[in-house]
Amino acid sequence: MKYATVPNVIAGAPESAELPCIDVHNPRDGAVIARVPMSGHREVDLAVQAAARAFPAWAATPIKERVQVFYKYKTLLERHIDELAALVTEENGKIVSEARAEVLKSAELTEFACSLPQITPGEVLEVSRGVECRVERFPLGVVAAITPFNFPNMVPNWSIPNALALGNTMVLKPSELVPLSSIRIADLLRDAGLPDGALQIVHGGKETVEAICDHTGISAVSFVGSTKVAKIVYRRATATLKRCLALGGAKNHLIVMPDADLEMTAGNVVASMSGCAGQRCMAASVMVAVANVDRIIARMVEHAKAIVPGKDLGPVITQQSKDRITTFIDEAVAAGAKLLVDGRGAKVAGGESGYWIGPTILDHVKPDMRIAREEVFGPVLVIIRAADVDEALRVENASPYGNAASVFTESGGIARLVMERASAGMVGVNVGVPVPREPFSFGGWNDSKFGVGDITGRGSIEFWTQAKKMTTKWNREAGTNWMS
Ligand code: NAD
Repeated sequence: MKYATVPNVIAGAPESAELPCIDVHNPRDGAVIARVPMSGHREVDLAVQAAARAFPAWAATPIKERVQVFYKYKTLLERHIDELAALVTEENGKIVSEARAEVLKSAELTEFACSLPQITPGEVLEVSRGVECRVERFPLGVVAAITPFNFPNMVPNWSIPNALALGNTMVLKPSELVPLSSIRIADLLRDAGLPDGALQIVHGGKETVEAICDHTGISAVSFVGSTKVAKIVYRRATATLKRCLALGGAKNHLIVMPDADLEMTAGNVVASMSGCAGQRCMAASVMVAVANVDRIIARMVEHAKAIVPGKDLGPVITQQSKDRITTFIDEAVAAGAKLLVDGRGAKVAGGESGYWIGPTILDHVKPDMRIAREEVFGPVLVIIRAADVDEALRVENASPYGNAASVFTESGGIARLVMERASAGMVGVNVGVPVPREPFSFGGWNDSKFGVGDITGRGSIEFWTQAKKMTTKWNREAGTNWMS
């Protein structure tokens, strides 16, 4: 085994109590690379206590000083990009260029946190003669973040820099499938000067998450993962009166109009469905082909067939995922879908025990087929045919999810119509992966997000802080009125 058992990190130190462990696999070849402890109530409680001890001093540190840690952290992320990307590739499987892009995105998220002193100065106004009202934002206390497997470096950095720069202390529960990156994140933050106790890492699964939701010492929880678990976490965390923002799964629709640019559309749609092996909550899942776009579909097929698993495309995360995706495809074919590109049976030399599945495109899929309704989370694109943009929007609107939607067209009017009518929190025009970049916020609608606010950018400021409204009067001459 390449790595030792991954430790929890509590008050800046590795915690190595004897706990039941599970194996961590490299999805490229199935090899066991580490073991990860399954923490319970005791470990979560120790982590919360450490975070609570660190909170008063960290919260009392001026924000301009707190963000100095994140300036250094950003530099360290950039300096260590090769090593951090290699680790992401090893535990998640994605190809190195994708892993590097993920680490660069973490640096961009950190850059936003560094700007927080400039954009959160509070407000003050003289509301009547000699009387001032002011609003200042205060941290919440101990907060928690629970993250999924698909971006081991980036998704923890959706929450850590902003929540900490705003004065909170945190317990992070990374995905048990990819626990290694979080340990390096904690190392680099410590090297950047983050005080011990400001960030704890507690590994585990369901039981650990339940302990976080139930712990009354935690004020707020951000969750990113599947809709099924997002609902569980949202209900359970709010039952103990925490703030909760729970981001769930997705089923993103790309509407392709007949006037769409051939090369841009074909390239973008295939990159969106196959990038990170389709394991992105922003990935294209359904293409709604309006009228005749066969020339675009033919070009997409060429693009998809040119993708070489192992070189251009990583594996999916587990054998179980691979089996689930394969079943989706088998069922769709049996129900009458036409297979244009078949990724089942993909093989990679040296990765015979890895979880490979190549890009797959299915045409003439009906909206009521399971593959058209449920999240597949693999490099699979289904094409649903529609007569016009209204029918395409009806297909998109019928999805219970609402993370992203895009339209490919040269018409400003059609673009505007889709921007207005798509039932999704993030909409693109001629963009396959419409991720808003900072200072804009990331977050979906419908079953793709539970709770108020967004997880990154300006939207996260409200989530990670509470506003104090203060009214002051210093001049004795101010008259007496209803607010005296
Ligand atoms: P997941 O829901 O299985 O796991 C997410 C986290 O929840 C992990 O830390 C895991 O340990 C924990 N968990 C799993 N089962 C649990 C249970 N029964 N009770 C309590 N906790 C539990 O998600 P995943 O497979 O790691 O990640 C993929 C999913 O995440 C996809 O659905 C994807 O769309 C979604 N995702 C969404 C976004 C977004 O921004 N909306 C971003 C990334 C990923």
